[in-house]
Amino acid sequence: MEVRTAAIRRNLERIRAAAGGALGIIPMVKADGYGLGVRRVVAALRPARPFGYGVATVGEGLELRRIGVREPVMVYSPVLPAELPGAVRGGLVPAISDLAGLAALTRLGEESARPAPIPFQVEIDTGMGRAGFGPGRAGGGQPPDWWNSVLHARASGLRLFGVFTHLHSADRDDPDSARRQIERFDRFVEGAGGVPADALLHCANSAGAMRLGSRTANAVRPGIYLYGAPVGRDVAPPDPVASVRARVVLARDVPAGTTLGYGATYRAGGDERWATAAIGYGDGLPRVLGNRGWAIAGGERVPIVGRISMDTCVLRTGSHVRTGDVVTFVGRDGDAELPIEEVAELAGTIPYEILTGLSRRLPRMEPDEAER
Ligand SMILES: *Cc1c(COP(=O)(O)O)cnc(C)c1O
Repeated sequence: MEVRTAAIRRNLERIRAAAGGALGIIPMVKADGYGLGVRRVVAALRPARPFGYGVATVGEGLELRRIGVREPVMVYSPVLPAELPGAVRGGLVPAISDLAGLAALTRLGEESARPAPIPFQVEIDTGMGRAGFGPGRAGGGQPPDWWNSVLHARASGLRLFGVFTHLHSADRDDPDSARRQIERFDRFVEGAGGVPADALLHCANSAGAMRLGSRTANAVRPGIYLYGAPVGRDVAPPDPVASVRARVVLARDVPAGTTLGYGATYRAGGDERWATAAIGYGDGLPRVLGNRGWAIAGGERVPIVGRISMDTCVLRTGSHVRTGDVVTFVGRDGDAELPIEEVAELAGTIPYEILTGLSRRLPRMEPDEAER
């Protein structure tokens, strides 16, 4: 698998241009940098000077510290109380979604004399439903009760680092629901007294950052667009980042009637050239692409025939394809291309799942100079 790190940086600059240069950028690098390798992704992003980085778990945040990230590291999934001490020790910024979480963090703040207050973010649930405090009555001008506890946490050695929400449909053609979510967020922020002037306010994922603005936000949290997947038909596509390739480990001609793969679900219709590629579902190539998906071999699109095995799959190719050739399952080869979104759609899923499903067995590498 090749990762075009220069393209990640170009995509970040596109987000920055679309969102407005003044907004802080918090690249999401969860799930090992969307499967591309977090070390490589952070090294690619660093020269663009992001405000900080976003991850899902405390473990991922501590990993960023281990590889030398000094910028703010924000943990976006709810953190169990038992994991909060580790998060605080690592200087991570947890997201708080309920009063129990706030109380657990407050106890840590009061426990010991700390050189600096413990930073935390508050998530507002404007419709995603998986986490966050409710925003209270919309437009009432009255902040909800829990907001007082958040403000009082300052006295217990905590520091309100940011307030955020998450959009559920910003990549849809019809942006109305995302607009309504942002509207709820903006109204909450405007109605809630006591938000520190330096607090981070943010709602937008990649699609939101490229398409929609907020009155109050001063940061965005892009992920997938950085890694090369488009986020809406009306949005300029990003530069492709990942290419998935494998070697043909066996190419041969088979006579009509030869059966192929588990279940013998494919049978040669005439004399055919079959190329066995060293990649299978054990590498993250979705098994549903058997008898359904494509590869690029010998400069053209060729079908994946038969079921995909754990370690191999078979392509029906032209007679010029030979053992040792490189074939492409995602990405470009010459004039032929298999965009990640097309592969995902054929597999009945989304680019996020394709990328994060690529397994450790596939080595991640830089492409040749000319292709970066
Ligand atoms: C994953 C994630 C993002 C990034 O979303 P993309 O669609 O990949 O841009 C932003 N915010 C939160 C809270 C996330 O979990």
